[in-house]
Amino acid sequence: MDSSDSSEKQRRPIRRARQTQTYPDVGFAPDKTHFQQKSLTFSLANHLQARELPVLPVRNTVMLPNMVVPLFVDRDPALRAIEEAMSGDHCILIVSQRSEEITDPLPQDVYEIGTECVINRVLRMPDGTSSVIVQGVRRFRIEAWTQQAPYGRVRGVAFSEPDMRNEQIEALARTALRMFEGCVKLSSRMGEDVYIQALNMERPGSLADYIVSQLEPPMPTRQELLETFDPAARLRKACYLLQREQNVLQLEQKIQEDVQREVDRGQREYYLREQLKVIQKELGEHDPAMREGMELRDRIETAGMPAEVRARALKELERMEAMPSIAPEYSVLRGYLDWLIALPWSKRTEDQLDLLRVAETLDANHYGLGKIKDRILEFLAVRKLAPEGRTPILCFSGPPGVGKTSLGRSIAQALGRQFVRVSLGGVRDEAEIRGHRRTYVGALPGRIIQTMKQAGTVNPVFVLDEIDKLASDYRGDPASALLEVLDPEQNNAFSDHYLEVPYDLSRVMFILTANVLHTIPAPLRDRMEVIELSGYTEEEKTHIAHQFLIPRQLRDTGLNTNRIEFDDGAVKRIIREYTYEAGVRNLEREIGAVMRRVARRVVEGRRHKANVSATSVPLYLGQQKHFPTEPMEHDEVGVATGLAWTAAGGDLTTVEVMAVSGRGNVLMTGQLGDVMKESAQAALTFTRARATELGLPDAFHEKTDIHVHMPAASIPKDGPSAGVTMAIAMISALTGREVRSDLAMTGEITLRGRVLPVGGVKEKALAAHRAGLRTIILPRRNLKDLEDMPPEIRETMTFALVDSMDEVIALALRSRQGQLTAMPHTPPSAGGTSGRLPQPSRPLGEPLAASGRLARPRARREVRDSFVGG
Ligand code: ADP
Repeated sequence: MDSSDSSEKQRRPIRRARQTQTYPDVGFAPDKTHFQQKSLTFSLANHLQARELPVLPVRNTVMLPNMVVPLFVDRDPALRAIEEAMSGDHCILIVSQRSEEITDPLPQDVYEIGTECVINRVLRMPDGTSSVIVQGVRRFRIEAWTQQAPYGRVRGVAFSEPDMRNEQIEALARTALRMFEGCVKLSSRMGEDVYIQALNMERPGSLADYIVSQLEPPMPTRQELLETFDPAARLRKACYLLQREQNVLQLEQKIQEDVQREVDRGQREYYLREQLKVIQKELGEHDPAMREGMELRDRIETAGMPAEVRARALKELERMEAMPSIAPEYSVLRGYLDWLIALPWSKRTEDQLDLLRVAETLDANHYGLGKIKDRILEFLAVRKLAPEGRTPILCFSGPPGVGKTSLGRSIAQALGRQFVRVSLGGVRDEAEIRGHRRTYVGALPGRIIQTMKQAGTVNPVFVLDEIDKLASDYRGDPASALLEVLDPEQNNAFSDHYLEVPYDLSRVMFILTANVLHTIPAPLRDRMEVIELSGYTEEEKTHIAHQFLIPRQLRDTGLNTNRIEFDDGAVKRIIREYTYEAGVRNLEREIGAVMRRVARRVVEGRRHKANVSATSVPLYLGQQKHFPTEPMEHDEVGVATGLAWTAAGGDLTTVEVMAVSGRGNVLMTGQLGDVMKESAQAALTFTRARATELGLPDAFHEKTDIHVHMPAASIPKDGPSAGVTMAIAMISALTGREVRSDLAMTGEITLRGRVLPVGGVKEKALAAHRAGLRTIILPRRNLKDLEDMPPEIRETMTFALVDSMDEVIALALRSRQGQLTAMPHTPPSAGGTSGRLPQPSRPLGEPLAASGRLARPRARREVRDSFVGG
């Protein structure tokens, strides 16, 4: 019967743990009334027998009549009870403990109803314990304990199972059997033989006992069943248990079927796919198109694409495979898939946001630029603290060759990111940013996507060069496409016309560079954190040359310091006479040119060391290439030196004015732009308004023609900052008072003679310094710009800050006797310029090669003044 239980149960049945659970419909207490129930349809007297038996209390199990169970016995009282039974008729009472925790149970610790059993076999173990096989015979009710030690004995009544038949019992028994059959079929635990045995139970009550022993309900339920003497009631309870079991088994089966179906489907797909692979491989060896498809599929699967893109790629691949390979569309699709596969979708580098390391890298690659490096570090610190926060995009603005791009490269190097750059100069077509639709012949993705492919990771440092040179025309506005690239709200789904699937640019660190800011479209400018780099002084350039440019060129040309050495004089001469720039790019190029010449000599076998000095520079580089605009040699009438700001940095400009008798015509030459012409007009009107104070005859303008000219006539010039210079040249020409040749000036003028601030002050000051001038007339509102001046400039130059033209006149024009009419006002706070008054004589000797007052022709460049909000 229960002998099919697990070996664990066979060995230690008494200790088996059972969850406790009560059976809801069993309500009656197992007391004596039980035997006297009116509903009982049999005669109790025939089935009761008074007996006295040794007792074996058990834990964790409830013995039912007809069950055969092995028990493991190790406690002394139990062993003795068994001994006693074996010495008599082998009968013993097995009764369950109420609690399994008790080891030496007292009479009140066991139930009153147990089962009289026969001991079939006793196996004595070497360690003194025993294993017995017992078989349940009939229910037994304890009436009194006759002995408790050394083992328990009880007196009570045994109850033999009656063989009771009536319609109700018959119906219950059949129902129970049918349900049991159902359970056996569903259960994996019970075999067919279990059902056959149930079929052959002789008495209906025993059938109930048997079924319950097979179902193994919890302990309390079993005990209740043991205490149910009425066979009909017992069968009903068995039916209830069977129903419940059946439900659980059905649920179990459904779950199992569901799981199986899932597993089957996965396995089936896997199996089919493997088969397909084998088939394709077999065929592919002969069919290149199929092999290509297989390779592409593999590459798509491993490219790390987002699900949406992957699905798109697989769909396009299917289309491609369905086409003959000579169809033109085939190669278009092939190209498209290649692009999708080659783009980085998930590969990224880990950021090393160690500020110390970044600072070291920046220092190792760039001389000076202290403030700029600080701003970069601050920017990165914010990114470190708030990686997901909205940081503006860095924009380096300044003349060419000052290190904007190379700063970007250093940032990438320090962060451990890939570095890529794209130049936007002259981009006027939106398609250059966004690509062409695939319907165009030879369509390609735009520059952004092309560059991402080159980067190979999703988070490179991406420099967009010359953002100020973007243009727009009828082919669309590249700036708005660029906005989508840069806007953190939109750039996680950048749409390229060629790709057609969104591409996530949100992890890219964009850095912009620009020469000037005012041409950048306003919506773009709003998103930028501008860091301005102005040009370098001659001293700084010399340091950069020795520390960076010369060593790099040595490496590039394969030379070393045993072959060539530059002295300071040589570098300075190259800076002054062979380059015209705010940055150091041409300087590096000229140094490279010198080295190539030396390299050739080395290769030709003329091996002596080249010591490049100031005097030997022309031997390598030829005649002087650049003739800077030079200040006037001596005070003159009608000529003034202004300062301009060009994309290449600051420069001197000369304004010439000639007043000749005529009829009030004004002539302007030298490719002046509209703004500059307006400045000239304003200067003239101001002069007329001041005619009396300046000692000019009434209505002088009606009898005078005025010609304003700016040399370097082939170069277009524009901007407002020449206003002051024009006015001075004009007043000088009209009054005959000489202009001081030892100072330069800049400032915009209003009709009423106020002087307004201008831009590019640092570059202008550098240019004046380069040219040997040591005094500059500046609008007072440019005072703030003096803070950024390099120390070298602050220490050697004087800035005369003015509010009105009257002050400029007093400073710049000599009185008719050749005397200054006033001293400049320099406030003590003007950045280290306190107390330095401009001297009437030239502060320095001949600054550069004296080659005439006006600039000689030089490389064509556009002179464009800055435009400052003031
Ligand atoms: P930009 O992008 O501003 O036009 P680049 O970054 O291309 O200029 O710089 C031109 C060259 O000058 C680079 O080789 C760069 O290394 C060098 N350079 C510029 N500024 C410095 C500096 N402060 N220290 C060292 N090298 C510099």
